[in-house]
Amino acid sequence: LQFKKLEIHKVFLRFLNFNLEQNLSPLILADLTDACYMRYFMNNNIAKLLNEQINKELYSAYLYLDIANYYDSLDLDGYANYYMIQAQEERDHALLFMKYMQNNGLKVTLEAIGKPDKSFDSVLAPLEVAAEHERYVTALINAIYHEAHEAKDYRTMKFLDWFVDEQMEEEENADKMISRYKLFGDDPKGLYLLDQE
Ligand code: MG
Repeated sequence: LQFKKLEIHKVFLRFLNFNLEQNLSPLILADLTDACYMRYFMNNNIAKLLNEQINKELYSAYLYLDIANYYDSLDLDGYANYYMIQAQEERDHALLFMKYMQNNGLKVTLEAIGKPDKSFDSVLAPLEVAAEHERYVTALINAIYHEAHEAKDYRTMKFLDWFVDEQMEEEENADKMISRYKLFGDDPKGLYLLDQE
């Protein structure tokens, strides 16, 4: 390891156009070597927001499971299955945030997941709840992005780019679920066909 560190060092110093023997004391050399091995510095507030987002994504999964249960109770198996898949995607989002934190040497703290507290009284109601929820998640992602931008944390901005695109899709799909229901869902045969898709 020491040899490897020294090799990295030589490359580093060559880059700076230093003469290894003449210009640097062993002490400075040791400091610079450690600097090569330092973890990526991340602003504490950004780390906190990333950790919170794990919880928010898991809550999203929980909310979609609740919606799937509601549709299952109406025997709308297609809608139920759609929200089961959404729940799986939200869990994957949580894992992406967790992995990003792990990869950057940040401590992950898992908190209690909130209880889904929406009650549904129509086929349309969960669709509207889901669309509203996705807009809320977009706002959360944007808030983290804003902090990363302020802190010139380019790595986190790049990581969040995927989520910015993903939220555009999530909102578009949620809105489409509503508009299609409004077009066809009032008619029993229309609803049957929507559920088959
Ligand atoms: Mg998500």
